[in-house]
Amino acid sequence: MKRTLEQLVRPNILRLKPYSSARDEYSGHEASVFLDANENPYNDPNNRYPDPMQRELKAALGRIKHVPSDCIFLGNGSDEAIDLVYRAFCEPRVDNVVAIDPTYGMYQVCAEVNDVEYRKVLLDEHFQFTAHAMLEAADEHTKLMFLCSPNNPTGNTLARAEIEALLQSFDGLVVLDEAYIDFSSGKSFLEVLDTYPNLIVLQTFSKAWGCAAIRLGMAFASPAIIGIFNKIKYPYNVNLLTQREAMEMTYRLYEKEQWVETLKGERSWLGAALQGLGCVVKVFPTDANFFLVRVSDAPGIYDYLVDKGIIVRSRHSVALCGNCLRITVGTHLENEQLIAALEEYGQR
Ligand SMILES: *Cc1c(COP(=O)(O)O)cnc(C)c1O
Repeated sequence: MKRTLEQLVRPNILRLKPYSSARDEYSGHEASVFLDANENPYNDPNNRYPDPMQRELKAALGRIKHVPSDCIFLGNGSDEAIDLVYRAFCEPRVDNVVAIDPTYGMYQVCAEVNDVEYRKVLLDEHFQFTAHAMLEAADEHTKLMFLCSPNNPTGNTLARAEIEALLQSFDGLVVLDEAYIDFSSGKSFLEVLDTYPNLIVLQTFSKAWGCAAIRLGMAFASPAIIGIFNKIKYPYNVNLLTQREAMEMTYRLYEKEQWVETLKGERSWLGAALQGLGCVVKVFPTDANFFLVRVSDAPGIYDYLVDKGIIVRSRHSVALCGNCLRITVGTHLENEQLIAALEEYGQR
């Protein structure tokens, strides 16, 4: 039995009449006297509330991503979209979600904040999953499944056939986090957004776009799902400074693409250099801008690097990642400093 979106959404959200802000009720461009929102008339442009629907930015992103504006939600980082899917679809203490394990920590944090059961399905030794195992973990209260491809912290792209099988066979929503898609040789699922009404794709300005500070996350889904997000989001969730800076970045799309090419080159260099180190047991294949690396002694090497002023992420306590460090690809100079420090570690 296929559940409809009305059956998946929480009843209180289905009934909700959204708060209507001044800028919602009037959004034309002809007016020049704005006395509707109790703003200070001075200190232009920061005196005015920003566009609650980020129309200009969504139009620009829609052109870049080849997606209509009404299939785009913009939030205060991807983290806002992750929290919103719980608030929209999961009844606390009743519904549950299923996620691959290991993966990005925010899915579980948001589950706990929203008092929603979080079910983990362990990846295999190649960090791959099967649709079958995800469905086995689900029941009639499973509203969402979380996938991340390329996955954090493992770095690999998930098998496309399994993602498609899950989209076809699961009658809830599949959240596919593509935070690292720009660095991947695999294709984005944005291209098949039309094919799967239960697909929510997450992307972000925090990685390839070099804009982690501005806090801008993107969710792409059917207009019906985006409509639910719009109904429950804070009215002015993306501030003017962020909207402007992101617009500016869309004019510099080529620069993002150059960064990605440079980082992919650095990734090859760093991967080979890591491979040659005595303290490195295994460099896992990556489609992202970081490596998961198994080393001889992750806690010891982590502390050693901290002493040298180099900070990596220990994933030692994460499932399947014993003695692993997660190392971001930096500038060539930074990567060289890391390698030099690790060579020195081997010679102590
Ligand atoms: C870094 C990262 C994000 C980005 O989150 P923002 O809130 O947009 O900064 C999202 N998902 C994954 C898997 C990440 O690693």
